[in-house]
Amino acid sequence: MTFTYEALPMRVTFGPGRFAQLPQEAEQLGLRRLMVLSTPDQRALAEQAAALLGDTCAGVFTEARMHVPVEVADAARAAARDTGADGCVAIGGGSTVGLSKAIALTTGLPVICVPTTYAGSEMTPVWGLTEHGRKRTGRDRTVLPRSVLYDPELTLHLPVYMSVTSGFNAIAHAVEALYAPDASPIVSLMAEEGVRSLATALPVIATNPQNTEARTDALRGAWLCGACLGATTMSLHHKLCHILGGTFDLPHAPTHTVLLPYVTAFNLPGAPGADRALRRALATDDVPRYLARAAVELGTQPSLAELGLTRHDIDEITAQALAQPYANPRPVTEAALRSLLTDALNGDLAL
Ligand code: NAD
Repeated sequence: MTFTYEALPMRVTFGPGRFAQLPQEAEQLGLRRLMVLSTPDQRALAEQAAALLGDTCAGVFTEARMHVPVEVADAARAAARDTGADGCVAIGGGSTVGLSKAIALTTGLPVICVPTTYAGSEMTPVWGLTEHGRKRTGRDRTVLPRSVLYDPELTLHLPVYMSVTSGFNAIAHAVEALYAPDASPIVSLMAEEGVRSLATALPVIATNPQNTEARTDALRGAWLCGACLGATTMSLHHKLCHILGGTFDLPHAPTHTVLLPYVTAFNLPGAPGADRALRRALATDDVPRYLARAAVELGTQPSLAELGLTRHDIDEITAQALAQPYANPRPVTEAALRSLLTDALNGDLAL
């Protein structure tokens, strides 16, 4: 066995009620003028954060949007400059965390994240910006949050459909980390436990969204899966989701949810160690079928067709996916890709 593992410098505080510790967290980092970020939907939570921070709140910016449009990033950077902010607090899902990273990328302002979905962006040095309909992404340690406060109580009102799809988004990070070219024993442990936590918690959340114990397990799983995403290089699944979101405007988390069983059906025969870990974590002998059926039973769409994709789109997706080589446990041929996408379009594994 050979591997390289580089730990990312990050402080994580976890537990029900931790949100109230935001002022102490700011103090610990020596920050005195924080700008609070959120989406318009989560303005009330952003205002709660501002109230907690009191005099150390420099302002509230509630215009975060999916995929970080450049004009929103510019407006947020201007607001940070005009208010004299010395750091940001990002409260929300991947969209708000993404906005804080866009600010950090050009200003170097430190970020405290308070995640409220399971997307995992808060654990990664990956940023993204969208301009003229195209999303650019990159890796830069500057955008890595300094501190992450995970409070399961903030996820109690995440709607069930978003909880389930966001949970599968997290599971997808762990799955691809298990067979990543830069996988390592510590990442594999985090991945297996992250998948186990989420797979156990999501069915409970689907019937009782206010169950704090299940919400705690799910958020703990999301943290572990996010850490896997931050530590490794993703393969075919994330590549295809990027194309489906970027070119075909398919919704981020639901696309991950529908596609994951089909990518695992293709990849796991070439990644026996990952297959064994996932069988253990999910207590099943058939990982792809388990993922497909569990997602549909929890109320998600069974096929890419139901997310709006058509048969004619397969040519373009195949061409884009084959245009740039990337690491994958099995070689990706045109025939294999067409077959995978056709199966996912029809939802064959969910039948
Ligand atoms: P999101 O952040 O867009 O949130 C979706 C909606 O849910 C928003 O309106 C938000 O306000 C609302 N919401 C969030 N938490 C809530 C809660 N607890 N209760 C009620 N409503 C809540 O969705 P997301 O799936 O978390 O993030 C998707 C984005 O993150 C995509 O742009 C994706 O590319 C990016 N992402 C980036 C990385 C990375 O490492 N850079 C990793 C994962 C995702």
